[in-house]
Amino acid sequence: MQIAFFGVGNMGGPMAINLVRAGHQVRVYDLAQPLVEAVVAEGAEAGGTPAETVAGADIVISMLPSAAAVNGLYLGEQGVLKAIAPSALIIDCSTIDAATAKHLAGEAAAVGLTVIDAPVSGGVGGARGGTLTFICGGETDAVERARPVLMNMGRNVFHAGAVGAGQIAKICNNMLLAIHMIGTCEALQLGADNGLDPKVLSDIMLASSGRNWSLEVYNPWPGAMENVPSANQYQGGFAVDLMNKDLSLAMETVLAVKGRAPMGALAKNLYGIHGAQGNGRLDFSSILSMLRAQE
Ligand code: NAD
Repeated sequence: MQIAFFGVGNMGGPMAINLVRAGHQVRVYDLAQPLVEAVVAEGAEAGGTPAETVAGADIVISMLPSAAAVNGLYLGEQGVLKAIAPSALIIDCSTIDAATAKHLAGEAAAVGLTVIDAPVSGGVGGARGGTLTFICGGETDAVERARPVLMNMGRNVFHAGAVGAGQIAKICNNMLLAIHMIGTCEALQLGADNGLDPKVLSDIMLASSGRNWSLEVYNPWPGAMENVPSANQYQGGFAVDLMNKDLSLAMETVLAVKGRAPMGALAKNLYGIHGAQGNGRLDFSSILSMLRAQE
């Protein structure tokens, strides 16, 4: 397949490389040229302009930081929608609000194009290892058409419902992720403050009812686990700024249905403060530092 790939950052870079390794012809575009070069070194082609990037593509994938970036890429005067062949399928893997996903799909349908939303879970490790979970929203035919390509970058492809449903499911997941990461940090800090070794406490909770993903594969306590951001001064991984974006999306989603999510709202407040204290670019497991006991 000829694949156009937009946004080769922490996630998109390794995802595009996995598509190259699966034998696809991949043309990449990013605002940051060094990131494009890193993927070209692995066998992709540099796209040049956005319109050149999509020329002849069977599949167009975007992995961008925000709804504004997604709208900027596809829509408006400079939008790339009008340069994409009608037979192509657009897969937006960015985490954005469901309303923007639906609006994009509507604009695309007006010119005969199909879009699915396919945000991902699994982090940078999952992107590198090709073990991501894709959470799709869109027509069944389109999701099935995307499935083999998505399976080149991941291990699970879920169909959550109509366009936008992938984004809703992703936001529910990330709200829960924020809550259990903060809870995990609180428990580890409480144990440490009372004389326990956080590594031993982690092992105990992993075999007990406190077990969760943050403890299993993303331990926030420096030294408790190798090859995770806490072992690397919280560099790389999933930025606090991006978690704040997701928690804002979660709160918008709650308000839209007059729902209740007090734990999500508290997580949003805590991550908001943590980001405002200059930690926005650190991995989200760095929230541990906010929970340290005061002298
Ligand atoms: P990132 O900032 O590392 O990468 C985004 C890339 O998009 C950057 O390289 C940027 O230059 C590029 N970009 C921005 N606007 C562009 C445009 N108009 N055209 C082309 N490129 C453009 O972010 P990331 O961590 O790779 O996250 C990407 C998306 O994946 C976000 O929506 C994020 O919420 C989601 N996500 C991230 C993780 C994670 O662990 N990092 C996990 C799941 C989902």
